[in-house]
Amino acid sequence: MAPMSVIEPWDLPDFPFDKELSEDENFLAWAQALARFSVSRKGHMGAILVRPHQQDDEVPSNCMRPLPPADAGKRFTPGAIRERVVVYANNTPLLFNSSPKQVQEIHAEALCISRAARLGRCTAGCTIYITFPPCNECFKSIVAAGIKRCVYRKNIRYPSGEAVLATAAVHGIEMCGTSEQQRPGVSDEQYLVSLSQEKAADGKRDEQTKEFWDSIGETTVVTRNRVNGWWTNFMTSNKAAVRNLQAHFGTSAARRPQKKSLLATGTLGPNRNSTGKDDRHEPSNQADAQISLNTKEQDTAGAACEDDDDDAYMNAVGEAQGKGKRASEEGLLPSTKRPKET
Ligand SMILES: [Zn+2]
Repeated sequence: MAPMSVIEPWDLPDFPFDKELSEDENFLAWAQALARFSVSRKGHMGAILVRPHQQDDEVPSNCMRPLPPADAGKRFTPGAIRERVVVYANNTPLLFNSSPKQVQEIHAEALCISRAARLGRCTAGCTIYITFPPCNECFKSIVAAGIKRCVYRKNIRYPSGEAVLATAAVHGIEMCGTSEQQRPGVSDEQYLVSLSQEKAADGKRDEQTKEFWDSIGETTVVTRNRVNGWWTNFMTSNKAAVRNLQAHFGTSAARRPQKKSLLATGTLGPNRNSTGKDDRHEPSNQADAQISLNTKEQDTAGAACEDDDDDAYMNAVGEAQGKGKRASEEGLLPSTKRPKET
């Protein structure tokens, strides 16, 4: 199997469709099988984006279309299935943080949509198969990408999922879970029925998933080694990038005492500007000021701007600019005194 990269999808092995099951069940089982490819350490998720079949307009639109299509034999051939798959993805760590616990991931649905954009493939009118209901953030991308059906394991809870369900209704997106919609006030009996439905549906797909992994001959040990290899590459390349940044900007440990020394010498004042208004949410001063700094001054100001509570320094700069002068002309950079209040 080809090595995995962060952005490029791995090779997609054929997935044998069960002609007795519905198309939705089969695609969902495939997404579930692909979840094992996930390198995420915060939970494995898979998603497949599928374009509609040319005959889909003739099929009544129901959640989890229950029956195999009449032409399952033709539609479920490996070639016919592959032709309809737009993209596929897993939850994937992307934004590097030096602590593995803080690695920020891109979710499978968002990565599917991003990959479609990268590859120039249309997402409008497609169905997305996801191994869990979409989170709010991914759902926004799903809406914006023009996806028309979401099929997922389990179901969206109500009322916690109200925003997603309402938005789906507004945009005409069909939301299809594998179990009954969970709502408040449901009786214990109904809830147990819903759980057993879910378990039965999951059980069928679990069998398909196992068959899939057996068919490509990959054991769990091999998968784990492949995932470990991915992490080694990910950490190596990102740590190298962090080292380069630190060589350029200095480490945060080196910058911190510099800021403290500015405070100690009175270079930095309290957190209020001349009007007494807290300016910490107006960072445009900071950006403008940095443009006007020369190289030597940048080191000092860079340290001074590191935290929100350093903006008294920038307030002085902003005030100078308010008078129609560049901050450097006003002689405020680097600032030695807080300007007089007017
Ligand atoms: Zn998400």
